[in-house]
Amino acid sequence: MKGIMEQGAYTVLTKLQKQGYEAYLVGGCVRDKQLHRPVKDYDIATSAKPEQVLDLFERTIPTGLQHGTVTVVLGAHHYEVTTFRKEAAYEQFRRPAEVQFIDSLHEDLQRRDFTMNAMALDQHGNLIDPFGGLADMEHGLLRCVGDASERFTEDALRMLRCIRFSAEYGLEVEAATWKALCEHSLLLKHIAMERVRMELERMIAGADPVKALGLLVSSGILRETKQALKLAQLNPQHMPAAIHLLLESDARWTYLFLSIGLNAAEIEADMRVLTFSVDQIKRVYKAAAAFYMLREGLLLNQDEYVQEPALEKKLEHLWKLGALTYGKAAWLTIYNILAVEPRWMESHGITVEAGSIVLSRGKEWLDALIVDSLKQLQVGGKELLAHMNNKSPGPWVTEVLNHLLQETALGRLPNETCLLIAEAEQFVKYHNL
Ligand code: ATP
Ligand code: MG
Repeated sequence: MKGIMEQGAYTVLTKLQKQGYEAYLVGGCVRDKQLHRPVKDYDIATSAKPEQVLDLFERTIPTGLQHGTVTVVLGAHHYEVTTFRKEAAYEQFRRPAEVQFIDSLHEDLQRRDFTMNAMALDQHGNLIDPFGGLADMEHGLLRCVGDASERFTEDALRMLRCIRFSAEYGLEVEAATWKALCEHSLLLKHIAMERVRMELERMIAGADPVKALGLLVSSGILRETKQALKLAQLNPQHMPAAIHLLLESDARWTYLFLSIGLNAAEIEADMRVLTFSVDQIKRVYKAAAAFYMLREGLLLNQDEYVQEPALEKKLEHLWKLGALTYGKAAWLTIYNILAVEPRWMESHGITVEAGSIVLSRGKEWLDALIVDSLKQLQVGGKELLAHMNNKSPGPWVTEVLNHLLQETALGRLPNETCLLIAEAEQFVKYHNL
C-alpha cells in the first residue's frame, strides 16, 4: 500500500502525463524504495518546462527556476519537480550555476552521480535503470555513472557524497570509482568549506561514521580541503570506535576530536574553519575543555590520591568545578562518551579507576550541585556593592561572585544572602581586593 506522500507523488506524475509531458520519480526516492528503506522525499523529473509546471498546479513555489525546479504543494506534502536537464559546462570543479533543459530522461539520468541515484520509476511503477543501479546495489557496490574520473572532475563534492553513501548504505566503493576518487582527491580544494562540513556532518550523524572516517583516511581526502583542518591528522589508530552508539551530534564530534588528541583551542579552530554554528562550537569546545581540566587536575599532585577515597574526592571536586566553569552539559557529553566506551579515558591519560568512578558517580555529582550559575546565587553584584561601603565597581565583583558560587556549589557555604555577604567581606579583606 502506498502512503499519502507517495500517492501524492503519483498524482503529480499522472497530471503531468495527462498534459502530454513525460514525468518520473527519480533519485533518492527510487533508490530507497528499491531498498525498502523509508523515503524522505519524492523528487520528480519531467519534460515540462518550469513555467508549464507553474501553470499546471494550483499551489507551487518557484524554488530554483534557473535550475528548472518548481516545488508543487499537495496537502501537507512538497514535491520538487525538475525539468530534464544536463549540466552543460562545469566550472571550477563545481556544479554549474546554469543548466540546459533537454527532452530526454536518459540524458537527465546520465548527469547524476552514482548508478543507484540514476534510476527512475514511471507512473505504473516500472523501473528505468539504464546504468545498472539495481544490480550494483544487489552486489553491494557504489559506482559512478559512466567514467568516474570525469564525474569527480565535473563536481568534486561527489567524492564526499561517495564516501557518505558508501558508509550510510554499507556499500563497497567499486574499484574504478575508488581509484578515481583517490586520484582526484586534491580537487576538493575547490569546494566551499560549508559544503564540506555539511557532508561531514551527515557522515558523522549517519549509520556508520567509523566506516566513513576510514574511507576519509584511506583516500587522504581530508588533507585536500580548501582550508587546512587538524581533523586531517585522523589515522586508523585513533578511530572513535563506539561513535555510532552516541545519540547526539555534539557528543559524536567531541568524541571524534578528542580521539585525535586535539586540544580545545584546536577543536574550536577546526570547527570555525568548517563553519559550524557558533553555538555548536561553544558546546563542543566546553566539553573538550572540561575533559582536559579533569585530566590536568588529576595529573597534579598525583601521589596524594592513589587511594580510592582520596581519588574519588578529588574527582568529585574537579567534576563540580568543571560544571561551574563549563556548564553541566559539558559533563553530560563527556559522561555519554565514557558510557559508550568505558575504556576510552584510559588511552587519553585518565586511569580506568578514575573513569569508572566518574561513570558511577558523575550524574549524582551533577544533581548534587545546588547552584551552578551566578544567577542562582542569593546575592548579586548590586547587592554586593551596596554592602561594601566605599568600594567602587570593578573586576573584584566578578571575582568575589565566582568565589561565592564555587563555595556554595561545593557545599561549603549555604546559599543564604547574609552568609554570602559575610563570606564576601572576609574574602575581600583576605585577598586585599
Ligand atoms: P539524500 O537526500 O538521502 O542525501 P538523495 O539521493 O536524495 O539522497 P540529493 O542530494 O537529495 O540526494 O539529490 C537528489 C538526486 O540528485 C540524487 O539522487 C542524484 O541523482 C542527484 N544529485 C544530487 N547531487 C548530485 C551531484 N553533486 N552530482 C550529481 N548528481 C547529484
Ligand atoms: Mg534527497
